[in-house]
Amino acid sequence: MKTRTNLFNRLQRNFLKWLTGGVFILGYIGSVSAQAELDPVELLSDFVGVDTVNPPGNEANAVAFYAQYLDQLGIAYETGESAPGRGNLWARLKGGAAPGLMLLQHTDVVPGDPRYWLSDPLQAEIREGYLYGRGVVDMKGTGIAQFLAFVAIAQSGVALNRDLVFMASADEEAGGFFGVDWVIKNHPEAFDGVGYLLNEGGSGLLQEGEKVFAIEVTQKVPVWLKIAAEGEPGHGSYPRTESSVTKLLKALNQLQSTPFPIRVIPPVDRYFKGLAAGLSGQQMIDYQDIAVAVQRPDFVRALHSSHPALHALLRDTCSITMLKGSSKINVVPPVAEAEVDCRMLPDRAASAFVEDFKARVAGEGLTVDLTMAFSPAISDASSSLIESIQETLSALHPGARFTFSVASGFTDSHFTRDLGIQSYGFSPMLYLDGEARGVHGNNEAVHVERYRRAVSDYQAVIEAFVLRPAQ
Ligand SMILES: [Zn+2]
Repeated sequence: MKTRTNLFNRLQRNFLKWLTGGVFILGYIGSVSAQAELDPVELLSDFVGVDTVNPPGNEANAVAFYAQYLDQLGIAYETGESAPGRGNLWARLKGGAAPGLMLLQHTDVVPGDPRYWLSDPLQAEIREGYLYGRGVVDMKGTGIAQFLAFVAIAQSGVALNRDLVFMASADEEAGGFFGVDWVIKNHPEAFDGVGYLLNEGGSGLLQEGEKVFAIEVTQKVPVWLKIAAEGEPGHGSYPRTESSVTKLLKALNQLQSTPFPIRVIPPVDRYFKGLAAGLSGQQMIDYQDIAVAVQRPDFVRALHSSHPALHALLRDTCSITMLKGSSKINVVPPVAEAEVDCRMLPDRAASAFVEDFKARVAGEGLTVDLTMAFSPAISDASSSLIESIQETLSALHPGARFTFSVASGFTDSHFTRDLGIQSYGFSPMLYLDGEARGVHGNNEAVHVERYRRAVSDYQAVIEAFVLRPAQ
């Protein structure tokens, strides 16, 4: 309730300034000079207070949050609920014929346990230069940056070379099926003419004063499998030579003891080369030519224990996560099951991976079923959007380097890559090494001054792309 009141007051204040011709229009960046006087940090703080913890999501609260501003500013938008309370919102600024740009955010956040936080996860608080709150990094912070860029461009009234679409979607944290996936299936028109998309997944890193911006172009592909083993059930007091459980264990052991071979695919090679540029010594040499380094088992072992997420980019992997046997200690069950979270490199079809997997765990009385898989896709690292981002940020941050990253996890970008949209995980927010560790954990926080800078850089990047002569 408090949030609503704050919001309302601020809107009223802005509206009054507008009516009275006060300081509503502020000089801002580049060619687009109109900017509603919405303070990014205040706005993000309010947005943190909008409860969108998933489960259950309640993203309709986020839709109401954005809708209030859009209503007041006279910007048209559409909304759609995939289920009660699961709100999605999108808005479009019409422009020229060049392929449109979509700014995509998910508004849901993962839960935070207040017992382990310095402050209430849903009550933004500034401490020692950092804004604490669930979602400030993943991804309400970027969401607000996208919103402010969109609103500023809308208010400026300048002619755009392409459509600009703002989308705030539900459910990314639980797979996006009530969010982007639902909008694609039920409101495909929201994506009409969209050729480019910016989403979460890449950001800047401050390394000993050097700035490196990572742009995510692809991600590993989840292939979730269920292995079931059948066997003669019986009493626990007289084990047979074989049972459903022993068969399953044998298969799982085989899976564990024979990891998938190392395979360096071109985007991963390029990512390691990008990382190497900020390093020195042997590590730099190894990352510079990762295909050579991985031939040394000691290197692979060390990388696996020090950087498991980087190691995961070098091979297909499987984590055994769910096990089910008997519900009674003295009953040997007829069926034992395991669910396995496999992630394959994005250079082949999921069906090929499943064949590979089956060959590894094959055994009598065993079945392998696919429970979920996405299709692999890699976005173009030399598109005009990438060029534009590099040009703009190089001017704002002289000497900054760029790298193209591969994510070991997945975001909603796989849905939009399936539509043929060049989708990039990108935010110009600069983090210190380890600073983003509160994501999905405790005490998620963002550096206030660097966040302000990121918001203004984000706007500059978007403006440059929607105003530059179309290509
Ligand atoms: Zn996220």
